[in-house]
Amino acid sequence: MKNGMGQLRNASKIRAFTLIELLVVIAVIGMLLAVLTPALKKAKSAARKLICSSNVRQFGIALSAYTMDNDQRLPPSSCHLDNPQQYWLHVLARYSDAELLYRCPADASKRFVDWNRPLAEQDEELRWSSYAVNSLTDPGCPLNGGQYNRVDQIRRPRYCVYLCEAPDSWTHYDHLHPEHWGSIEEVKGQIAWDRHDGKSNYLFADGHAECLKVEDTWSWPGNCFWFPDYAPGWPPDGY
Ligand SMILES: [Zn+2]
Ligand SMILES: [Zn+2]
Repeated sequence: MKNGMGQLRNASKIRAFTLIELLVVIAVIGMLLAVLTPALKKAKSAARKLICSSNVRQFGIALSAYTMDNDQRLPPSSCHLDNPQQYWLHVLARYSDAELLYRCPADASKRFVDWNRPLAEQDEELRWSSYAVNSLTDPGCPLNGGQYNRVDQIRRPRYCVYLCEAPDSWTHYDHLHPEHWGSIEEVKGQIAWDRHDGKSNYLFADGHAECLKVEDTWSWPGNCFWFPDYAPGWPPDGY
């Protein structure tokens, strides 16, 4: 009996000690998580940004190869064409074999078109791309008679945006119209400007890529990187 009580007391002592230990361990894990979670989130978003900028650079390489083969001409968008085989998304796919080329990993959409395959064979609901091109560089652009779809006609290609990140909500769209923008709010409605911590990736007509704040590409007074005949300046009034 005496022995039995002693064992019970010892057992409860052991149990109480284990409980405190457990609580300490839980508290330590909690503190570690609190410390590590923001660091992990940061690492994840840095990785996404890196993959996206590598995609954009791949586009730059594909674009340079394409323009070399095509007398300095840039490929067309869907703006003035009905045949998806002629869109830049399909045309540049032949110049690159990178699998995730059309998708930014920070894009909320999950299902994308495979531009190495004909569009007609794929689900209508699929998103075309995380990226969109500047329609002012389109051969069908009525504003400039299509003359700025040649890289050597663009005044300063290293200051002229060719491609940017398109909003997650866009599905069947591959280009945007800077000539219609009147305010930074309108610009922000057409570019996924916040995809990488307040910035997003841009490919310039010379093939180099940069991660920028949208205000650095379009601001008054300031720079405007969107008009091939004036970039990095603004076009004159009445353009
Ligand atoms: Zn258009
Ligand atoms: Zn991105």
